Amino acid sequence: MGAKKKHYQTIYENFGAPISKAHDCGKYCAPLNGGQPVCCDHDHAIPAASPPEWKVMKKRTDMWKRYKPKDAHAKKEVAEIEETCVAIVCNGAKYCERDNRLLACRAFPFYPYFTKDGEFAGLAYYWVFEDRCWVISNIEAVDKAYVKEFIEAYDTLTDVDEGEYLAFHEQSANMRRVFSRRNAPIPLIGLEGEYLQVLPKSGGKIVPADPKKYPKFGPYRSRKAYEKAAKEAEEMYGPAEWGEMPPFPA
Ligand code: SF4
Ligand code: SF4
Repeated sequence: MGAKKKHYQTIYENFGAPISKAHDCGKYCAPLNGGQPVCCDHDHAIPAASPPEWKVMKKRTDMWKRYKPKDAHAKKEVAEIEETCVAIVCNGAKYCERDNRLLACRAFPFYPYFTKDGEFAGLAYYWVFEDRCWVISNIEAVDKAYVKEFIEAYDTLTDVDEGEYLAFHEQSANMRRVFSRRNAPIPLIGLEGEYLQVLPKSGGKIVPADPKKYPKFGPYRSRKAYEKAAKEAEEMYGPAEWGEMPPFPA
């Protein structure tokens, strides 16, 4: 069985918490990206809805449209997405209707991590965004209320939709492979909001972690790295409209 309209409606009603009440993270990544939060910039990520989610969403709002790829690279990406999902685009961050965000928008940068045995173990991130997403370098900033709603949403979805479960199970296996090759642990937020890590080359062994030791990436490594990236972005795009300096450890 697949997810139906009622499941997405329940998910939308119950999964609305911000990722962090203390931080408007878009204000940290957008200045480095021409003023657009990275996860709302379709040049970085083409949003994908499952066919039932698209059915629900197009009745709720006209904020979303089918994505029409213009170049060969985008065409290839869309063809891959559309093997199972529908590639769509919204009107952009300035016109975002919060209640009509896709599940993928609400979840970003996280996806539900499954163990080899198929157990839902927590939130892992889409590592391809390590160099651009502030949250990935600041996992401690993620609120417990958000984690709880995320878990309930994906419990609902993967319980009723085998295709979704299999996709996340495979994504988790890919992440284990990539991080084993890096010889680096996978940072994980557990089902109770606890900090964990999946050890590399361990068959997926999960142990507690000190979140202070989770790695930081790219411009979020230090104040100096951020300032350098902000300067480069200003040269490329002009002064950032939403500029705000993220906090760094003293
Ligand atoms: S989730 Fe990451 S990419 Fe999206 S707005 Fe926040 S910091 Fe930027
Ligand atoms: S719906 Fe909102 S959160 Fe989702 S991509 Fe569009 S602007 Fe970003």
